[in-house]
Amino acid sequence: MATRLYTHPVYLEHLTPPGHPERPDRLRAIAKVLAHDVFAPLDRVEAPMADETAILLAHPETYARRIRAEIPHEGLARIDADTVVGPRSWDAALTAVGAATAAVDDVFEGRADNVFVAARPPGHHAEKDRAMGFCLFNNAAIAARHAQKAHGAERVAIVDWDVHHGNGTQDIFWDDPSVLYCSTHQMPLYPGTGAASETGAGNIVNLPLAPGSDGEALREALESVILPRIDDFRPDIIIISAGFDAHYRDPLAELNFTERDFGSATSMLMERAGRWSGNRLVSLLEGGYDLEGLGLSVAAHVGCLMKG
Ligand code: ZN
Repeated sequence: MATRLYTHPVYLEHLTPPGHPERPDRLRAIAKVLAHDVFAPLDRVEAPMADETAILLAHPETYARRIRAEIPHEGLARIDADTVVGPRSWDAALTAVGAATAAVDDVFEGRADNVFVAARPPGHHAEKDRAMGFCLFNNAAIAARHAQKAHGAERVAIVDWDVHHGNGTQDIFWDDPSVLYCSTHQMPLYPGTGAASETGAGNIVNLPLAPGSDGEALREALESVILPRIDDFRPDIIIISAGFDAHYRDPLAELNFTERDFGSATSMLMERAGRWSGNRLVSLLEGGYDLEGLGLSVAAHVGCLMKG
């Protein structure tokens, strides 16, 4: 079965101010590398827009209404110090949610073994009731809940290797043992959460890494902690919060992963998806702000997904 790729032109219309790292050029850089011949076998599908009720899988209705009310008719509006919305941001965010839930449908209904979603805005900082860190709706959390509600998944594993801690995903699943959330991230760093002592209902696994850590630290975290936890948990699907800002070129952090490290991590999680989850694996773009580092990393990640 092919690897499916979701993206959509509306993601380029979610605008941020000049100099903002989370910018449309990120997706242009990804499109450029994925235009190479080796990615010709990708099953490319235009992302569908979600119904607004999908947001409610992870956020209260009052929150969805509040975000909706922030959307300006023209110009940009600031939700917090670094989270900005423009006139097309609602449609972009709903289409990011739509791609995440469609990807889950695809792997459960046999249209793909695995799926990569190249969308913006990202999601893992969005808490139940709070937009932050460039994120409006928590795409990974909504995908996990959708797997449970629409496809009867009993256990969902989310692995988040973005360089920042996914405080939003942790918040949403804090007391929900049906979702295993494992995160590697630099510490100290924004948003400040993600200490190893934060364990929720025993389902939250935080592996903070010191500035300067390289891919060996990621491999160690996976092999000694995350993969054994996945083996104990036996997930029905694995969702990756795939941020690529731990790449050594990235300007927002000080970890030193290479694109090859992201490839190795991808292969390890695919192996686990094969063992426990009928190969079902959905990968959702989170961060990654150096255009060259992002392009190389996505190429390595998607190249590995296609070898499934
Ligand atoms: Zn990040």
